[in-house]
Amino acid sequence: MYNDTMANLIQKQKHFYRSGATRTYEYRLRQLKRLKGTLVAHEKQIIDALKRDLNKSEFEAYSTEIGIVYEELKFTIKHLKSWMVPKKAKTALTHIGSKGRIIPEPYGTTLIIAPWNYPFQLAVSPLIGALAAGNTVVMKPSELTPVMSSLLADILGSVFDEEYVAVAQGGPEVSQALLSQPVDYIFFTGSVNVGRIVMESAAKQLIPLTLELGGKSPCIVHADAPLKLTAQRIVFGKFTNAGQTCIAPDYLLVHRSVKEELIACIKEAIQEFYGSDPISNPSYGHIVSDKHFKRLASFLDNGTVACGGQTAPEILAIEPTLLDQVTWDMPVMQEEIFGPILPVLEYDRIQEAVDMINDRPKPLALYLFTREPEIEDTVVGSVSYGGGCINDTLMHIATPYLPFGGVGESGMGAYHGQGSFDTFTHYKSVLKQTQLFDFKFRYPSSKNGLKYL
Ligand code: NAD
Repeated sequence: MYNDTMANLIQKQKHFYRSGATRTYEYRLRQLKRLKGTLVAHEKQIIDALKRDLNKSEFEAYSTEIGIVYEELKFTIKHLKSWMVPKKAKTALTHIGSKGRIIPEPYGTTLIIAPWNYPFQLAVSPLIGALAAGNTVVMKPSELTPVMSSLLADILGSVFDEEYVAVAQGGPEVSQALLSQPVDYIFFTGSVNVGRIVMESAAKQLIPLTLELGGKSPCIVHADAPLKLTAQRIVFGKFTNAGQTCIAPDYLLVHRSVKEELIACIKEAIQEFYGSDPISNPSYGHIVSDKHFKRLASFLDNGTVACGGQTAPEILAIEPTLLDQVTWDMPVMQEEIFGPILPVLEYDRIQEAVDMINDRPKPLALYLFTREPEIEDTVVGSVSYGGGCINDTLMHIATPYLPFGGVGESGMGAYHGQGSFDTFTHYKSVLKQTQLFDFKFRYPSSKNGLKYL
């Protein structure tokens, strides 16, 4: 049933794309401005949907979703014209008389599959890149945030015809139906396991794709880090959206000499940001589903609870929790946590921390707190990860000047700012040859026995 509906939708979009309408600068700019206009007009509904789906506070809704999307739109509108200009390329001496060009062209009809944790930003940011690059888009938001999914369908449906931008609501069955269609590009954000399924599907039709996945992102705190400030930045990164952030610090690797003091500072920061009873704080996020709540609650007996540990099943809330005395063989260290639980591990020499990370899949993010340049060089120079911060958490995702993405198991490809335009663009290399002269030696000659000179 879904297959036929999705096949029709994709065919409609392909037909529209072939009309050439989406190729001009004026068209793309106009659509980006219309997108901006409708988002601004629906801002209150967006905030309300985030509250209803995830109990996101207005502050978080703006700082981690709406504000980032507005910035992305502003930046894209400002730079689009320059990004669209074909670049001249040098040609080799052997090609004398010819000219080279690299022409950015849209892929065509693209598919964006989004997760639930930032259900607005992670659906709309790639949309901006796809439209800027001149594509049509079918967006599949997450079924776990139904209020936002249906709002996105309404908002985008109010300004775009479905032959240009369509929202397909539903779960994995809708994704699967879309993945079986001959789209020209797939942009997937979600878990590593589903990323594998998406890549397998794409491989069948050799469809190029971006995978924005997850994993366990370490946060290293070295002995020289200023602990109060470090704790505040860790608490910000870990407990925003109740830890349901792909780049949240998953676990701490702390120099043994400062562990106790850091734990004390983290407790203080939690109290300062969320009060003495975070669960009843209306600004503190809830867990998205009963299944995820139960999975997270089962980690609470791993190691010892150094802080937090309380749950409220009736509202799917879990206190900001620190787990001490944790080892790698415990369930909490075997998978991405994706919730407000922060295990603390120790090291004595920085090389031990580096080895622990390098023994595992490449993380999406890595955070390091230190003032020592040698420590920074050792970590940045010897660990492969998607991206991250020195002396902060999360902030690398919120600038259009840094492409964002994973590496290895945490994903492939990157976006944001010009990175988004590039992701949704095929750079076509074209050589234009002169007809004014020719070098005969390039051709085989029967006179010379087909030998080149
Ligand atoms: P998910 O993989 O379960 O779902 C993502 C999307 O895939 C949803 O739209 C869902 O409907 C669809 N889907 C689910 N099962 C499918 C299947 N079998 N076939 C086809 N499509 C399917 O991920 P999630 O639970 O929504 O999000 C959490 C995960 O996403 C975490 O692992 C997190 O780290 C990761 N994530 C990564 C980023 C990033 O930018 N790298 C951002 C946010 C979340």
